[in-house]
Amino acid sequence: MRDFCARVGVETFIGTSGRVFPKKLKAAQMLINWQELLQSYSGFSLFKKHSLKSMNSDKKLHFDFEGEDIEVSAENIILALGGGSWKKTGSDGKWTDMITKLGIEVSELRPMNCGFEVNWSDFFKNKFERGHLKNIRITHGDRSVRAEVMLTTYGIEGSAIYALSNFIRDDIESSGKTVISIDLKPDLSIEEIENRFKAKKSKESMSTFLKKSLKLDPIAIGLINENGHKASASRVKNCEVELRNCRPIDEAISTSGGVLFSVLSDHFESKKVPGLFFVGEMLDFEAPTGGYLLQGCFCTAHRACQNF
Ligand SMILES: Cc1cc2nc3c(=O)[nH]c(=O)nc-3n(C[C@H](O)[C@H](O)[C@H](O)COP(=O)(O)OP(=O)(O)OC[C@H]3O[C@@H](n4cnc5c(N)ncnc54)[C@H](O)[C@@H]3O)c2cc1C
Repeated sequence: MRDFCARVGVETFIGTSGRVFPKKLKAAQMLINWQELLQSYSGFSLFKKHSLKSMNSDKKLHFDFEGEDIEVSAENIILALGGGSWKKTGSDGKWTDMITKLGIEVSELRPMNCGFEVNWSDFFKNKFERGHLKNIRITHGDRSVRAEVMLTTYGIEGSAIYALSNFIRDDIESSGKTVISIDLKPDLSIEEIENRFKAKKSKESMSTFLKKSLKLDPIAIGLINENGHKASASRVKNCEVELRNCRPIDEAISTSGGVLFSVLSDHFESKKVPGLFFVGEMLDFEAPTGGYLLQGCFCTAHRACQNF
């Protein structure tokens, strides 16, 4: 696998930095390299623009190619049709009906690594539109992540939120809303911040103090003051934000749900339709961004192929 990745130009195929591909240009070149490498194997054929429309338990597949129906049969089939987000890439999740009809259990596709909606005040929306909060800590329940988030007119997203998104989503689904806490100064203790508040000069405005003494950006100060809140050390350390809805599934970076592991062998072969394998985001797993999803796709594909 490492050799294959090196040959097509994937520098890291699991990364803590999230930089799976170094640059956009390199990613495009990588796909070309990948395609060329695959085509160099005898017996490999690539059929572009073929859309899988149906299949039956005898493993007869029907593809649509420019309006033409093409039937293909195979002894072994590995499906890697993706999840149900970013439909413009072709991963529309329509396969769930096709697979369910075969009697193979699939759990509902739901957004994961997604943004959430917040009912910001008009003042906040007009003033900030979109901005980053860097080097912060987000806590939801007993889980907490240190990273950054982006505040937008509709709500909040970004790596810290994505990492907690399945828990936040589940809480919203059961309770209609949930609350996260943002620590805007994770490197300073509450006592240290209280001491700085005590040392604030009486003539200094609160926003000047927050900017100079605590090095907070205007958007962080706006968040502290949102909905008439007064600035305090506890508000800096524990700025609560109520989240109401997930953003639409199509905007999510990935989807949870998919073909249940319980109906598959440990090589991801269907117990109901032997010879039919599922890999990648079609499977019912969830992972944070940062390379873990791609790693899951590579690993499950590798494992399925070990069966042959
Ligand atoms: C914006 C964005 C950023 C991401 N960033 C990261 C990241 O930093 N790290 C990480 O690990 N992951 C990331 N991911 C997720 C990662 O890209 C996916 O998890 C991974 O690509 C899933 O691979 P897959 O092969 O299962 O499916 P996909 O890559 O979705 O491929 C499925 C393919 O099947 C095709 N298809 C679907 N239905 C049919 C049909 N009926 N007939 C024919 N073809 C069909 C689709 O057109 C598509 O080409 C990101 C995703 C997005 C959208």
